[in-house]
Amino acid sequence: MEFRSQVAIVTGAASGIGAAIALSLVEHGADLAAVDIVDTDLAPLQGAAAAGQKVISLRCDVTQSDQVKAACKQIVETLGPPVILVNNAGGAGPIPVKDVEELSDDVWDLVIDLNLKSIVNLCREIAPLMKARRYGRIINLSSSVRHGVFGPLNTVNARLPYATSKMAVVGLTKQLAKDLAPHGVTVNAVAPGLILPGENARITRRFRDLPKEVQDRITASIPMGRLGRAEDVASVALFFASAGSAYVSGQTLDVSGGL
Ligand code: NAD
Repeated sequence: MEFRSQVAIVTGAASGIGAAIALSLVEHGADLAAVDIVDTDLAPLQGAAAAGQKVISLRCDVTQSDQVKAACKQIVETLGPPVILVNNAGGAGPIPVKDVEELSDDVWDLVIDLNLKSIVNLCREIAPLMKARRYGRIINLSSSVRHGVFGPLNTVNARLPYATSKMAVVGLTKQLAKDLAPHGVTVNAVAPGLILPGENARITRRFRDLPKEVQDRITASIPMGRLGRAEDVASVALFFASAGSAYVSGQTLDVSGGL
């Protein structure tokens, strides 16, 4: 896989799975815009970049269309038009809510906006640029949780809007794939199972806080007998980002150890 002279955007690139996807893209030659609500530490990306390869960090709340518009303008001015867009920023929000009667409008809106509206915000700015070049790769992050999870919350906070939004990502991916197919732009989704992207990642800390027997039960429920790593997801995202996936669009690929 070779992404030299290709501009890539990864949202939520400051940590977790997004950081691993960003690093892989840079290692394979891409110029990279790391978009996150916090500053992205560029040192590892710069360390992986070859001479002349560019990496930039932009602070942007991807749920806010005006901020996304401004960030995309800056990316185009600094790096040129992107041909790879990884819509990775997402999550189940900071507030644990299991029962529907406890779900506030605010939590619902936050989680739906973070996982779904964010993708629309980015695609609205970037898809026209890809269409103009007759080439593009859009990769969206869904989740195995889209099928629903029975039992205690464990690692997922507001599970109802989260599962809803991640299933909706599949529909968005399918429709956008059909809309953009005549323009040489593919749209696919990656649906991770439980991924621990490193000891400092939010979800890793949450998993380690669970009682040992719960951790063991979760691990035993995965056919491959281990939790996922960020690199397991990054390698699949890179396939969808590559020229080699040219005839694949509208697909959602589970990366969940056989779950
Ligand atoms: P994470 O919480 O570790 O990282 C998410 C990143 O997104 C952070 O850097 C955060 O600052 C950024 N972010 C949050 N809100 C933002 C906003 N409004 N605007 C811009 N950036 C924002 O998450 P992760 O575990 O690495 O997950 C990455 C993606 O993969 C998410 O879409 C998540 O739903 C999905 N996913 C993760 C898992 C898992 O087990 N880790 C499983 C299935 C799906």
